[in-house]
Amino acid sequence: MSKVLILPGDGIGPEIVAQALKVIDYLNKNDNLAMDLAYGLVGGGAYDETGSPLPDATLAAARKSDSILLGAVGGYQWEGLQRDLRPERGLLGLRSELDLFANLRPALLHPQLAKASTLKAEVVSGLDLMIVRELVSGIYFGQPRGIEIRDGQRYGFNTAAYSEAEITRIAHCAFQIAQKRQKRLCSVDKANVLEVCELWREVLEAVGKDYADVELSHIYVDNAAMQLVKAPKQFDVIVTSNLFGDVLSDCAAMLTGSIGMLPSASLNADGFGMYEPIHGSAPDLAGQDIANPLATILSVAMMLRYSLNQVALAEKIEAAVDLVLQQGHRTKDIASTGETAVGTEAMGDLVVAALAD
Ligand code: NAD
Repeated sequence: MSKVLILPGDGIGPEIVAQALKVIDYLNKNDNLAMDLAYGLVGGGAYDETGSPLPDATLAAARKSDSILLGAVGGYQWEGLQRDLRPERGLLGLRSELDLFANLRPALLHPQLAKASTLKAEVVSGLDLMIVRELVSGIYFGQPRGIEIRDGQRYGFNTAAYSEAEITRIAHCAFQIAQKRQKRLCSVDKANVLEVCELWREVLEAVGKDYADVELSHIYVDNAAMQLVKAPKQFDVIVTSNLFGDVLSDCAAMLTGSIGMLPSASLNADGFGMYEPIHGSAPDLAGQDIANPLATILSVAMMLRYSLNQVALAEKIEAAVDLVLQQGHRTKDIASTGETAVGTEAMGDLVVAALAD
């Protein structure tokens, strides 16, 4: 029995999570999934009810669970709040409290959706790459940081820093993921300019000695950006620091042209993970039954693969999503001109029907 905490969040969060719950319910009843669900509040809704975007009860429930499935947080009505009360602090709080240091962002383009990309179909069709981004260290967290007056003018500064231990653990994680894929790992850095990246590269090389079956390569971040747009299918797994990963993973996501299709995972050293679609709460779509629930449904598949060790069921969900696309069903965001779009609820039902096929 695995315990999963469900955090629907704000905006379209509850609608898309409801579709993922249909899938879990089907697998519980028909495939012995044995997933035990608990529910909690996070984000703007949590602030409205409790005064905090990450209530103590949610954190306590998270610590008792094996994984978290999150919808999305945020919305216009909370934008004026002071920084530490904003919905996004709920997410950041979960990441840091649970030490979710490894962010896995697959960029996968189902050949049926190749037209959705702004790149030529032959460049992206069948794209299947995984970006592993370090999530809780690096320049986003380094000290000292701030804005102060120096020599009579304002001076802004941050610190890019990684310890050997921080690099070592993300390296192991990335190598192990590469072992489960095509066994090619590309580390992205800027070692020609930054000392912190020199250490990054040295540690990657050292850790690589434990993974003789994985081919390790290195690339500078500027070239990586260029190659991602020019020939993205050359990559299998990319590992990189927090800042570079933030930028490159959004770029890779956009190669697929469909933000509503991409899941993500944030893992800690024990394999505990928080799984969520890469998109936000899309307040412009909330309550209209038009959001794409497939990224959230595919987040359940990732959870089964990376935290709950149920690879066969992960593949079953992915195959069901594939079949639904093969059958020509599209939500509005991935429909081409002339194609009729199905709603959020209907897309959830179609995936469940495909599971039964
Ligand atoms: P967004 O990802 O919510 O939306 C960007 C665009 O993509 C919008 O046009 C939206 O309609 C569309 N879109 C997003 N998800 C979709 C889906 N499932 N199906 C179809 N179309 C979809 O980003 P935003 O508009 O910049 O932010 C909206 C709110 O979400 C903000 O409050 C922001 O802070 C928050 N946010 C939350 C997360 C998260 O919870 N992980 C991530 C990013 C943004």
